[in-house]
Amino acid sequence: MINVTQPFFPDKEKYKSYLDKIYDNRWLTNNGELVQSLQKKLESYLGVRNLLLVANGTMALTIAYRLLELQKDVLTTPFSFVATTSSLVWEHLNPVFSDINVSSFNLDENNLEDKITEDTSAIVATHVFGNPCAVDELDELAKKHSLKMIYDGAHAFGVKYKDNSVLNYGDVSILSFHATKLFHTGEGGGLVINDDELFEKAKRMINFGFVKEDTITQLGINAKMNELEAAMGLCVMDDIDDIVSAQKIISDKYKHELAGLVEFQDYHQDSMGNFSYFPIVLETESQTLELKARLMRNNIRARRYFYPSLNKLPYLKTSCACPNSEYLASRILSLPIYHGLSEHEQDEVILHIKKHLV
Ligand SMILES: *Cc1c(COP(=O)(O)O)cnc(C)c1O
Repeated sequence: MINVTQPFFPDKEKYKSYLDKIYDNRWLTNNGELVQSLQKKLESYLGVRNLLLVANGTMALTIAYRLLELQKDVLTTPFSFVATTSSLVWEHLNPVFSDINVSSFNLDENNLEDKITEDTSAIVATHVFGNPCAVDELDELAKKHSLKMIYDGAHAFGVKYKDNSVLNYGDVSILSFHATKLFHTGEGGGLVINDDELFEKAKRMINFGFVKEDTITQLGINAKMNELEAAMGLCVMDDIDDIVSAQKIISDKYKHELAGLVEFQDYHQDSMGNFSYFPIVLETESQTLELKARLMRNNIRARRYFYPSLNKLPYLKTSCACPNSEYLASRILSLPIYHGLSEHEQDEVILHIKKHLV
């Protein structure tokens, strides 16, 4: 079976050497040595400051909402992983969807201003498949209306915009280090927090509100990353450049072989993305479903990612039509791409797509 993705497994002996360290230190969690070391390594690699490592990306989103004290309505994208919306609903916030641009797959910055009301407290936008949002325009719009700006950067690991990390925009950007992401810690996530005071507050927030051993100054929760996860992250970090370049080769080949047959995502001209996904867009929904089924018959798993459009989630109290997002969700397939996908395997994927479309 060729899966759509496959977690990267670093060298086992290296992971074992970190385990030895954990056993020597007798320290498993609570901001341990390895978590601190991973934080520094990631800050330097990504070109960010104030990176807080947490248990997962969804938790990073909910911490961001609490940290920035969001209330009532939050303008957000209908085209993202379900966590972007479910985390809002989980926090009793009301997601208000604004449609996307069908080429960039990101929130259309030109549609947003009309939707801002007295009840709007923030904008939550996703850098879909690592393609930077219109960050200059979004940050400016948020500022103009005194809204908080949060970026779901779960796909944006290492993505640069005008030679700067795209994670440096907005009030807070979040990352996911789930096993299937480009860089992972098994389960894990992070927040990049621009304001130093908010960064300190967030540190307390993820550890029950403790400032020191016996002093609690605020409401908190347990959202900490542990040493076992940080050890995995430190190992994967050593191979991150290899992972990215392997995925770039796969991505370039798909682009070359499938050009003219299907549509691709349009990347922001000031960015390259990080090659973590390879979505294609087909002409009709039935063609999309038939291709998915044909690939499946040949033991190749392509995924409808993202589907459904999030404005269609069954648990929303109110929603609206988002024709661009619904259009895209019904015609998109993400193709297998991961470090370790062999040339032969990729050729097979391409062959079956061509058989279907030509
Ligand atoms: C993976 C993902 C998340 C959730 O991250 P977890 O670490 O799985 O909780 C949130 N948003 C997007 C866009 C994602 O792809």
